[in-house]
Amino acid sequence: GAPPFAGRTTREWQAADASHFLHPFTDHQALASKGVRVITRGEGVYVWDSEGQRILDAMSGLWCVNVGYGQESLIEAATQQMRTLPYYNAFFQTTTPAATALAERLAARTPESFRHAFFCGSGSEANDTVIRLVRRYWDLMGQPQRKVIISRLNAYHGSTMAAASLGGMSAMHAQGGLPIPGIVHIDQPHYWAHRHGAAQGLDREAFGLLAARWLEDKIAEVGAGNVAAFIGEPVQGAGGVIVPPSTYWPEIQRICDRHGILLVSDEVVCGFGRTGQWWGCETFGTKPDLLTFAKGVTSGYVPLGGVMVGERVARLLIEQGGEFEHGYTYSGHPVACAVGLANLDLIEREDLVARVREDTGPYLAQQLATLMEHPMVGEVQSCGLMAAVQLCRNVPLREAFAPEIAIGMVCRRHCFDNGLVMRAVGDRMIVAPPLVITRGQIDEMFALVRQALDRTL
Ligand code: PLP
Repeated sequence: GAPPFAGRTTREWQAADASHFLHPFTDHQALASKGVRVITRGEGVYVWDSEGQRILDAMSGLWCVNVGYGQESLIEAATQQMRTLPYYNAFFQTTTPAATALAERLAARTPESFRHAFFCGSGSEANDTVIRLVRRYWDLMGQPQRKVIISRLNAYHGSTMAAASLGGMSAMHAQGGLPIPGIVHIDQPHYWAHRHGAAQGLDREAFGLLAARWLEDKIAEVGAGNVAAFIGEPVQGAGGVIVPPSTYWPEIQRICDRHGILLVSDEVVCGFGRTGQWWGCETFGTKPDLLTFAKGVTSGYVPLGGVMVGERVARLLIEQGGEFEHGYTYSGHPVACAVGLANLDLIEREDLVARVREDTGPYLAQQLATLMEHPMVGEVQSCGLMAAVQLCRNVPLREAFAPEIAIGMVCRRHCFDNGLVMRAVGDRMIVAPPLVITRGQIDEMFALVRQALDRTL
């Protein structure tokens, strides 16, 4: 049949959009000058716009469409579940088979300290839930003064008031008077950003230890007895794909252990194979007490998020916590959970995690390294299928571009006009393609990246 929403021209969509749609994270004045781009369909690693131009989606939508577009088994799972039971809740002593089966499946797929899943609708809600959970845990432990959660600058943990407070994005904090009380931040293990400062004269691994010890310093400042948890993304994603030195996370783990602080791994981006292991915490060798997920759990086909609650916290909550005063209408939404199960089946059937670890991840790293020959590239970094290209004005001196040039946005625009979605975080260009991408498509992606760099120069 005809595709849905056919029959309007691009201009008509743009006019309707400009009149009625308030977009997330968008400068509407800037949008008005060019008009919104209307994405109408997707297949594999590609999407098409309303003018029929094909675009290689090297960001997997927003880091979520890990199995690519058009996967029939996910579509079928959603359709079947909608027909059978489109909705029922998990409050008040009920469940649905889909929700319970996904909790069971995730418990089997996550590190062995995790046996319980709490569901919600997004990554933001998952991280909100974490704030509740860690404070509840310390209340039940008889240490209610342990309230402070330590996070990192430029972390992204979501956009609700609490999740944005956990996050370390200053532009988000500036709107709405954030962070909320009880959340503090340390600097990020960003070797490049500290190249003329803290990292000067240190190799990456020595810098990793230094950066981890900023946590120790913050704990001393706040008082160990007041700290509830530390939260971090294994690899900071929206902050610019900041791959930490290998010394960083083990040292963070030691510091958390030494002070009895809960460790939270935000796996909303890193989970489900992105880093070449099922979980980023496995890639970097930590044993978190709580693990948040969203995005890749359903490959973005329908919204779903959640928290894996480690036994240390879950036992106390279940055995001594009484009613947990927290939950969402869509906690354990059966359609989302059915899609989650089909998505896990697909990842396993196609062995996507091993493919990232052994084939496409290393291949992407190899191709990425060749960009170092470009006169505008100061550093490249990757982990599995997430990668960053640091743009730089003067490569030997490693000088930054003037901020008003907004070099990343210029490069991003060249990509977008040329059939590639690549994201800009300041002067850092990032990609996180679907895990189903082939070597041939990686070649195609790098050809487009090179063209964009040349046009930006
Ligand atoms: N955590 C991380 C690491 C993320 O990258 C994101 C979104 O990009 C979130 C949490 C928030 O997820 P959501 O947008 O589903 O609320």
